[in-house]
Amino acid sequence: MGSEPLGGGRPNLYAMALEQFEAAADRLELAPEIREPLRAPLRELTVNFPVRMDDGRIEMFTGYRVQHNIDRGPAKGGIRYDAEVSMDETRALAMWMTWKCAVVDIPFGGAHGGVIVDPKRLSLTELERLTRRYATEISILIGPNSDIPAPDINTTSREMAWIMDTYSMHQGYSVPAVVTGKPLAIGGSEGRNEAAATGVVITLQRAAKDAGIALEGATVAIQGFGTTGSIAAELLSELGARVVTVSDRGCTLYNPNGLDIIAAQKHKAETGSLAGFPAAKELPFHHALEIECDILIPAATETQITSKNAPRVQARLIVEAANGPITPEADASLRARGVRIVPDILASSGGVVVSYFEWVQDLQAFFWDEAEIHRQLERVMNRAYDDVTRIAEEQHVDLRLAAHMLAVQRIAEADTVRGIYP
Ligand code: GLU
Repeated sequence: MGSEPLGGGRPNLYAMALEQFEAAADRLELAPEIREPLRAPLRELTVNFPVRMDDGRIEMFTGYRVQHNIDRGPAKGGIRYDAEVSMDETRALAMWMTWKCAVVDIPFGGAHGGVIVDPKRLSLTELERLTRRYATEISILIGPNSDIPAPDINTTSREMAWIMDTYSMHQGYSVPAVVTGKPLAIGGSEGRNEAAATGVVITLQRAAKDAGIALEGATVAIQGFGTTGSIAAELLSELGARVVTVSDRGCTLYNPNGLDIIAAQKHKAETGSLAGFPAAKELPFHHALEIECDILIPAATETQITSKNAPRVQARLIVEAANGPITPEADASLRARGVRIVPDILASSGGVVVSYFEWVQDLQAFFWDEAEIHRQLERVMNRAYDDVTRIAEEQHVDLRLAAHMLAVQRIAEADTVRGIYP
């Protein structure tokens, strides 16, 4: 184990993703000719490009697109805008996307991209120019049959529309299937915006039942109030759970009687932050993870639970809505205390599942209604949950290892029948 640096600092994400993979590969006794190619991403692109700012100046930006594996189909994964974006992070997220798509058994490989930028610093026009130029730079990789981006942290349907338009302008005709998470007006899918949260809630319901926790009245803490965290909070309140904590980068809200989530969403939409929300106590950001609750949902970013704060986590069940929120060190210590963890590659896969439905609808130019999307999402999530829990039981392993084993096994099967070229 070694993704958490000894002297503190940000854990090495690719080392963490690799460590999770190696554990599954060991357990599966994976042959070296299958194991070695999966250890490193297939393709990595770094782009350095200029953007004209509103005051006429030129600023240089750096972006990435990594395709980890494409054995089971086109590469698939989000695009992130954040000051902390790095090649290391992009690689890890691309690898996790490979596993995520395989766990839910959709015919995609894994990719991820990002630009090093704090988007709040840019005007809308600057953001559009940055997005269009980045899309052009990575257009040597992306395409409806090769690599299909989607939203991730700080990107939404707005950026996907700009990418779809830019790519289409270069082709000379509209190519809706080049990205998912688009607005409905240009081939987006019903239910895509709430898909990640819905997937989290479907798996959470199953996991709570298995852990003997009645959802009605259960206390829930959520770290992160973006698209996934805020919608998951809303859905869980509707199901009768008591969401006692939600948090964003600025603060953590706490109300032991349960928060009014709709009012909190409104407050955030109006003020840009959860801070100052009346009916709740305000605590520092990281406190969201340490609140007394039955179920904890990390829905912010990577490596939030480390060996340092893991002993203070009080939840009995953790459902990972973010990618990689728990380091391997913390994972081991939580499990040793009997905390049940539903891993990211299973719990957070609802987004990419509906991305797959969107891509299929775009390719067929035939669209489904919301009820159909929901029915299909439920089917896929439940099937994946069944598959993972069955492996966990049969092999006496935890859910993370079981999910990785399932994913790696599916890719190994594809690799075996395809063989190595030439
Ligand atoms: N960025 C999302 C994720 O990490 C969605 C990826 C997609 O839909 O392609 O799962």
